[in-house]
Amino acid sequence: MQDIDAIGAIIGIPPGGAARNVLITTHQNPDADAMGSSLGLAGYLRKKGHLVTVVTPTDYSQNLHWMSGNENVIAFDEKVRVSVSELFDQADVIFCLDFSALDRIRDLAPMVRQSRARKILIDHHLEPESFADLALWDPTAAATAELIFQLIVDLGDKHLIDVPIAECLYSGLMTDTGSFRHPNTTGNVHRMAAELVDLKIDVSSIHRRIFDNVTLDKFRLLGYVLNEKLKVLPEYKFAYITLTDAELKRYRSKTGDTEGMVNYALAVDGVVMAAILIDRNDEIRMSFRSIGNFSVRDLANKHFNGGGHRNAAGGRTKLSLAETEQKLLTVLPEYQQLLLETV
Ligand code: 5GP
Ligand code: MN
Repeated sequence: MQDIDAIGAIIGIPPGGAARNVLITTHQNPDADAMGSSLGLAGYLRKKGHLVTVVTPTDYSQNLHWMSGNENVIAFDEKVRVSVSELFDQADVIFCLDFSALDRIRDLAPMVRQSRARKILIDHHLEPESFADLALWDPTAAATAELIFQLIVDLGDKHLIDVPIAECLYSGLMTDTGSFRHPNTTGNVHRMAAELVDLKIDVSSIHRRIFDNVTLDKFRLLGYVLNEKLKVLPEYKFAYITLTDAELKRYRSKTGDTEGMVNYALAVDGVVMAAILIDRNDEIRMSFRSIGNFSVRDLANKHFNGGGHRNAAGGRTKLSLAETEQKLLTVLPEYQQLLLETV
């Protein structure tokens, strides 16, 4: 689905035409691609003369707060329900970035569904729900930021990409490719990165702002997890971590503090699939990672109400943490053959 011309017709303001009320939203617990693509698009659309608001379904990690436009982001919570509803009512256009299924945006889902605005989906996940009027959807894209960049280029507006927009888009591209090391790191990814770097963005500063501002609490939690909570099941080439609400509280863990932790489990020698199960906000959040052809997306989708990509997926349950762990251990034999074949 590549409705570029139709999206261009909405974005372009004809001479004498009116600016549009644009609302941009993205998935819960937004990561650097979610925020980078949202704020990059917001910066671009503001340059095109539109009135733009970014609304996220939840708050997000501190290490993303430096992005240009962050000061105007509205992170949904009950206190802003009324004003956010009004924004959805007033919007002419809603951009839905970096998610394909409405259950990824929690309380914002009914607002998007009921809104009379034109809905435009821009995403690279695998299961598009057909709620949008227009879409730029490409599961082969490494990041939503890559699609935003391509959209701006295709609409002939590359010259509008300034340093703040470039920094946002670079952040999404860099993090969704695992710093240019995952299999989604195509030539196109590097070409886009090169174009952004040529704009004189400060690459090493962006990496530092995103990765090198870890709180001591987060490091202590990681130490505890690696020492006491990382379990390896060699018979499945599987490693996993569970974290209770009490453990998170003990280390004063905040949204985003557990992000990336699952990668330590995947990095264990011989492991081809990893998971982390986290008891947070009255649900169990699960993150899965794999290497090679083993699809954690299929496993997350079939058993844990989730989805994502082949090598990085997530899901959630309303079971207890112990029950979720038990369920995961119960489904493993179904995948044992495939796991053992994966190298
Ligand atoms: P993470 O583990 O980093 O939260 O997510 C990894 C990938 O899986 C991301 O691309 C994310 O969008 C996707 N994902 C995470 N949680 C869910 C979920 O609950 N449902 C679906 N459909 N995808 C998810
Ligand atoms: Mn993404």
